[in-house]
Amino acid sequence: MSGLLEGRRGLIMGLANERSLAWAIARAAHREGAELAFSYGLPALEKRVQPLADQVDAAIVRLCDVQSDEDIERLFAEVEGAWGTLDFVVHAIAFANRDELKGPYLDTSREGFRLALDISAYSLVAVVRAAAPLMTGGGSILTLSYLGAERTLPHYNVMGVAKAALEASVRYLAADLGPQGIRVNGISAGPVRTLASAGIGGFRTVLDWYAENAPLRRATTQGEVGDAALLFLSDWGRGITGEVLYVDGGYHIVGVPPTVRED
Ligand code: NAD
Repeated sequence: MSGLLEGRRGLIMGLANERSLAWAIARAAHREGAELAFSYGLPALEKRVQPLADQVDAAIVRLCDVQSDEDIERLFAEVEGAWGTLDFVVHAIAFANRDELKGPYLDTSREGFRLALDISAYSLVAVVRAAAPLMTGGGSILTLSYLGAERTLPHYNVMGVAKAALEASVRYLAADLGPQGIRVNGISAGPVRTLASAGIGGFRTVLDWYAENAPLRRATTQGEVGDAALLFLSDWGRGITGEVLYVDGGYHIVGVPPTVRED
């Protein structure tokens, strides 16, 4: 494979460090010739994000807290100023308070629910609304989900509800933007150790169970999520929209561990 994204320009949102799924997708897209821009969610992440962005000669590296409409507006104004148009956006952003990712879902607070749904689901709508006017020649939007959107998984709690909203948003946005040639899709990735997943109670147990029981009998890797993303970002996926594809070694077909200890 080479050159699948030659001449394409893409914004990757949600880079935190070298373990981020955003980074795996960025590396795959860079390898295939894409020109990239990045956004990150917290000022403290800049020192990690900038050196990674430099490795792929990023055109833009900008702080963008997706809770802020002004931040989103500024980011896309900068993209428009630099490039004029945009071919793809990767939305790799999620957040819930740690307290909400242990114990029963029943204990979810109103504020915890609001925060998780705002950052992890509504942000896709806000981002797509800002991106669409720049996708004058059509485009591709890709977000990241998890099995907890469809099944109850221990401790995933409000994040599962946020991912369900995110997956429904993928379908509604795909319906809205299809006539403009803009495709909206998701990848439901298997569990991968990252900053975000470290906050989920019992995650280590899920990872071990997964590696032993998923049909492919090994953990999902960042690299295989990055490579799968190319299907959606490139012309190979030109007929696909409104889809959420499992990239999880078949994990979703075999069920979940009966008990997960807090670790
Ligand atoms: P990560 O911690 O590397 O990325 C999460 C990103 O979200 C971080 O860069 C963080 O700064 C950003 N973020 C949080 N709040 C934000 C805000 N208010 N504004 C802007 N950005 C904000 O972890 P990751 O696992 O690579 O997560 C990327 C996506 O992949 C998430 O949507 C996550 O739910 C999803 N996902 C992860 C796994 C997994 O096991 N790691 C599995 C399936 C799906």
